[in-house]
Amino acid sequence: MTGSRWDDPGVPHKGWQCVDVVDLRPDGGPAEETDYATCEMCGHERIRYVHIMEHPDQDDQLRVGCVCAEKMSDDYEGPKRREARLRNRAARRSRWLHRKWRVSAKGNSFLNLDGYNLVVYPTKSIRWGYKIGDRFGPKTYATSNEAKLALFDDFWAQTQDNETLWTTD
Ligand SMILES: [Zn+2]
Repeated sequence: MTGSRWDDPGVPHKGWQCVDVVDLRPDGGPAEETDYATCEMCGHERIRYVHIMEHPDQDDQLRVGCVCAEKMSDDYEGPKRREARLRNRAARRSRWLHRKWRVSAKGNSFLNLDGYNLVVYPTKSIRWGYKIGDRFGPKTYATSNEAKLALFDDFWAQTQDNETLWTTD
C-alpha cells in the first residue's frame, strides 16, 4: 500500500472498533528477524503491535499502529493499555525459563504462583508435559523448556486479567 488512507474519502476516520492486538515479536526474539507490519491507515512502517480494527460500514478489517488505532476508535487509553499488556507478556515470557523452578520429590519442575501449582514432568514416552493445578496440558513436548513455554502461554491465556499475578514482582 502507498500513501495514507486518512486522505481517502471512502475510509471513515471514526467509528472503528479494535477487535484484537497482535504482538509480532511475542517471544522477544531478535528485532532483525521480526516480520514487522506496515500501518494500513497511514502507511507508517515497522509496526510491532498490530491493532486490528473493524468498522460497521466497511467490509475489510484494517491492521494499524497504536496512533491510528487511537484516532480511529476515539479511544486514547485502550490501545496503549492493550499494547502494554502484550509488552508485559513478552517480557515475562522471556524471563519464564529463568524463574526459580523448584524440583518436587518426584523430580518434576514446578512453580507455585498465586495459589496455582504449575508443573512440568517427563512422560513415559520420553517427552514433556505440563499441568496447571489439576488440569493437564493438551500436548507433550520434545524438551522441558518447550513444555515450560507452552505452560506459560496456556497459563497467561487463562489468567491475563489477574492483576496481582502479572503486575507484581
Ligand atoms: Zn498509522
